[in-house]
Amino acid sequence: MNDIAHNLAQVRDKISAAALRCGRASEDVALLAVSKTKPASAVAEAIDAGQRAFGENYVQEGVDKIRHFQAQGITGLQWHFIGPLQSNKSRLVAEHFDWCHTVDRLRIASRLSDQRPAEMPPLNILIQINISDEESKSGIPLAELDALAAQVAELPGVCLRGLMAIPAPVSNYERQFAVARQMAVAFDALKLRYPTVDTLSLGMSDDMEAAIAAGSTLVRIGTAIFGARDYTKN
Ligand SMILES: *Cc1c(COP(=O)(O)O)cnc(C)c1O
Repeated sequence: MNDIAHNLAQVRDKISAAALRCGRASEDVALLAVSKTKPASAVAEAIDAGQRAFGENYVQEGVDKIRHFQAQGITGLQWHFIGPLQSNKSRLVAEHFDWCHTVDRLRIASRLSDQRPAEMPPLNILIQINISDEESKSGIPLAELDALAAQVAELPGVCLRGLMAIPAPVSNYERQFAVARQMAVAFDALKLRYPTVDTLSLGMSDDMEAAIAAGSTLVRIGTAIFGARDYTKN
């Protein structure tokens, strides 16, 4: 087994163990392999090991990888855009990705909807919540969720699938769980109102267990699969 296949197996075991510990089925928690800054060859190793869903933070880098695998005739992959999205990059996301996790204003959602090619299924979108209420991070406060969700749900080119958050890092499990529960409660309420909502994107390497215990359906893991990122090369 190569390193990436080995790491993936370990991460999947950790997810299963965390799910079983809180009485959830391991299939209820999906793994998004975050491949930002990593070459297509690393993604190819993960594909060989059975991984299908990949997360990218930088629009052009993600599009290059999507095109690379399309050109190779590899189908069945799922590409999630998980980085901050500027309006001038929305078209590339709409035309290439399957999901966008970082919708935090109607203007971006409308552009994605308008720019989604008619021959593609609606772009799956998650509304990003600023759950730790930090000035520097993107996302909307929970208090604004109902209004934005109602507007987004009307757009024909996108499909509202749920919520995403990047909580401020805290090492204490109880505090991680408390924040994750706030997200899960909002997610459950949204699910009751919109039948398309089924995804709570929450949990990274350091808070995965708490996120899963609280109700996350999708954890986003990069370093533990692909190794440390080297930003000096870009
Ligand atoms: C980079 C990133 C991850 C993965 O982080 P790792 O520490 O490499 O596991 C998850 N979610 C988002 C939004 C990211 O930008």
